[in-house]
Amino acid sequence: MEIRFEKNPNPAKKPDPASLGFGKIFTDHMFMMDYTAGEGWHDARIVPFSNLSIHPACTALHYGSEIFEGLKAYRRADGKVQLFRPIENIRRMNRSAERLCLPEIPEEDALDILLTFVRTEEDWTPSAPGTSLYLRPFMFGNDETLGVHSVNHATFLIIASPVGSYYKEGINPVKIMIEDEDVRAVRGGTGYAKCGGNYAASNRAGHRAETRGYSQVLWLDGVERKYIEEVGAMNVMFKIGDEVVTPKLTGSILPGITRKSIIELLTKEGYKVSERLLSVDELAKSMEDGTLVEAWGCGTAAVVSPIGELCYRDHKYTVNGGKIGELTQHLYDTLTGIQWGKIPDEFGWTVKL
Ligand SMILES: *Cc1c(COP(=O)(O)O)cnc(C)c1O
Repeated sequence: MEIRFEKNPNPAKKPDPASLGFGKIFTDHMFMMDYTAGEGWHDARIVPFSNLSIHPACTALHYGSEIFEGLKAYRRADGKVQLFRPIENIRRMNRSAERLCLPEIPEEDALDILLTFVRTEEDWTPSAPGTSLYLRPFMFGNDETLGVHSVNHATFLIIASPVGSYYKEGINPVKIMIEDEDVRAVRGGTGYAKCGGNYAASNRAGHRAETRGYSQVLWLDGVERKYIEEVGAMNVMFKIGDEVVTPKLTGSILPGITRKSIIELLTKEGYKVSERLLSVDELAKSMEDGTLVEAWGCGTAAVVSPIGELCYRDHKYTVNGGKIGELTQHLYDTLTGIQWGKIPDEFGWTVKL
């Protein structure tokens, strides 16, 4: 694939690693290409980071045809930069595209684009502990008409943002509220696709939880409001007795790459891992009789996020004394160890630039 390169004539000064935060600072360039029905993808280019110019009738603004991905580039101790399972993000993006009738990008082209772009912005990968270069590929329907029909024009971009350590003040367990009113997704809908619309549907419950002092909501299934699905922007796992339980992928849950990696890791280490239906009643019972030992969310941003308190219909349950559990800590250490190249990658998950 040919990628035109237009160098930014005014590169920015690299930010102070202590002030990074999440998604506030962007690198000097962005990748961009366009799709036209009948012609396919064209005009692949890496250009100076800038605002976009879009038509006010742009499909994505009116009908929500937008999908995205999130992954990180990590600076190893030897100075090299590596990605974590990027092909998984590319495959998931294509599944999301298929669901929203947006055009797919052939896997080899997408990987080539991603690696070429990250090489261009490599210098922006910070090296302070816990910091990384967050990559945000995204695609949107870009027809210039209010007519509702399948997408004839789409735009794909990758932007990059150096991000700080998620856990600057140590790993603090979060408080989660079980939501039994709003639902995020239903089977047959777009729950398994990483699309902006799912987030729009989540906003009200998320906001409500925040005003009550909870950091995120735990979603129940959209039909019976009975089975655990996932937490905010993370998948969720519970250690109940000796079993690690995570909701099975029924179509309304986002298939996280962190989730998949943890399942593979724990299985290799000999743990009993079950992907199954888990009802909120079973979870409540396990909290009452003390068999719930640990609970955590998992996703690219936080890796793992221990859950210290769960609230369900005004009942508050403390998990593991409100502290991070042994297994949660082990998962954090192992995954971050592989991602930053501090421990050997026996799975072949990492891709060096
Ligand atoms: C991205 C995302 C996740 C986590 O996926 P990872 O690939 O592990 O980062 C979980 N749930 C939702 C809703 C997401 O958007």
